[in-house]
Amino acid sequence: MSALLTVQGLKVHFPLARKGLFGPRRAVHAVDGVSFEVRRGETFGIVGESGSGKSTTALAVMRLAPITGGEILLDGAPLDRLQGNALRAMRKRLQIIFQDPYSSLNPRFRAGDIVREPLDLMGIGTKAEREARVAELFRNVGLRPEQQALFPHQFSGGQRQRIGIARALATQPELIVCDEPVSALDVAIQAQILNLLQRLQREFGLTYLFISHDLGVVQYMCDHVAVMYLGVIVEQGDRVALFRQPMHPYTNALLAAVPAADIARNRARQRIKLSGDPPSPIDPPPGCRFAGRCPFAEPRCHAEVPALREVLPGHRVACHLVDDAGIGPHQRAAPAA
Ligand code: SF4
Ligand code: MG
Repeated sequence: MSALLTVQGLKVHFPLARKGLFGPRRAVHAVDGVSFEVRRGETFGIVGESGSGKSTTALAVMRLAPITGGEILLDGAPLDRLQGNALRAMRKRLQIIFQDPYSSLNPRFRAGDIVREPLDLMGIGTKAEREARVAELFRNVGLRPEQQALFPHQFSGGQRQRIGIARALATQPELIVCDEPVSALDVAIQAQILNLLQRLQREFGLTYLFISHDLGVVQYMCDHVAVMYLGVIVEQGDRVALFRQPMHPYTNALLAAVPAADIARNRARQRIKLSGDPPSPIDPPPGCRFAGRCPFAEPRCHAEVPALREVLPGHRVACHLVDDAGIGPHQRAAPAA
């Protein structure tokens, strides 16, 4: 499978006001050198706590966050440098589903107008063609075409997310960025929306960049997963390998926080409790960004940045203490009694 999306060395820094006349310019390092590839037809997950930079990465791919460094290629074309008409043409191929179906739909617009809006903005089809297309989109996402006349507040949360999905599908995109698409929904509704996204992926050959803090959801949806912490990827691999044998102490800690029944075949997991909060992304610490919360940290962890290296085929990790067989420090530690 070829890469549809390539993100190379992406940085998103938000500058802060200068502190003192001669002081260095400080910045929030929201995304600090992130690289990954999303293959055509797959679901690529980015998982992390809030503040990890996962949503900012998604927004940068959509050109909705300022890109400070690196590049983003869609099918080989430099998304980060497109302007004007070229950018508008590219937007057809790239859409986003937002987290909150309550705030992402304009309450003054009827559902049909919301779904039709991207077609209007991009001038796709005649008026009659757009109307037929919107009715078809409503059916695609499990809504009735008659519901086009209703306003967002007349729908349930799950139905509102279906409207958001229909809108994202309108321009027949190849890549859809799903930014926490079910986090705002009841658990019972989450499964319906996830199953809908999977069905649409099969039907329309979609590729998803899927952002979530929920490992259960990521395990259900994703083929490949990147784990982000404080603006960097700390581990990346295919879903089965990553959930079965997390190499990075942070990935292990995230998995340990999920009820065991949710994560298959991961019995021998050391229970590491995550304590404290991630440090500030303003002036992130030198060395390993997880060192302040890592129970295995050594002096060099605080001084040297661990490189993201491929330890097993397709499985990459950034930790000084993972050996060449992919055994992390949590797997060497004596098992808890
Ligand atoms: Fe922990 Fe050191 Fe590995 Fe960072 S590099 S995760 S501090 S052991
Ligand atoms: Mg977010």
